[in-house]
Amino acid sequence: MSELNLVLLGPPGSGKGTQGERLQEDLRLPYYATGDILRAAVRDETELGRSAKQYMDRGDLVPDELIVDMIGERIGSEEAADGFILDGFPRTVPQAEALAKKLGELGRELTGVLLIDAGDDEVVRRLGGRRTCTEGGHVFHVEFHPPKQEGVCDVDGSELIVRDDDEPEVIRHRLEQYHEKTAPLIDFYDHQSLLRRIDGAAAPGDVADEVERTLATLKLEADEAI
Ligand code: AMP
Repeated sequence: MSELNLVLLGPPGSGKGTQGERLQEDLRLPYYATGDILRAAVRDETELGRSAKQYMDRGDLVPDELIVDMIGERIGSEEAADGFILDGFPRTVPQAEALAKKLGELGRELTGVLLIDAGDDEVVRRLGGRRTCTEGGHVFHVEFHPPKQEGVCDVDGSELIVRDDDEPEVIRHRLEQYHEKTAPLIDFYDHQSLLRRIDGAAAPGDVADEVERTLATLKLEADEAI
């Protein structure tokens, strides 16, 4: 079978992470979520983390140049030879152009871009109730996926907190950034016939079924194109 080079696109809180983790297991492909990579860098106090933190805390996007090489290295690595799942990248048109250039250098191209969409009100409801574990980044939700014991991670027992960028005014700012800088990628990829739309407001299981159906079609198309 041909390689599967996928991008998950959509507003913060649309369920990209949930679907991405599921896909990673199903497809056995590396899953690169730039938000997770950056948060780990902040926790480890690396140079990248120190540069990125100020932007992330405000809900601003981190400058393209900090992100592009970080992802380029991973895409070119041995583990990504059969494909990859990108979540949270690209988030601007220049990042999408840099991705296309990198893939071109490797003689590869994107297989598809899954837009997992959700309206602003739904995003605010989801992110506002999100609780994240301080140790491993495990994610819970006060309403949809509560931990067994309030404030404590089921997986590693560490404290659950509201991420700085899940505070209400920061959520609103992240949404503005999404509409201004990331949403133009919808047309960008639609024009290249790469975009597939999935309703992220549905229940997670239904979204997963839709993702699976979409991937089956993408794989067929990719195999026919060989
Ligand atoms: P996320 O977990 O995907 O919502 O990302 C959290 C934060 O990380 C974002 O609000 C940005 O500050 C930063 N970030 C993640 N991915 C990118 C990217 N591709 N470009 C710029 N900033 C990013």
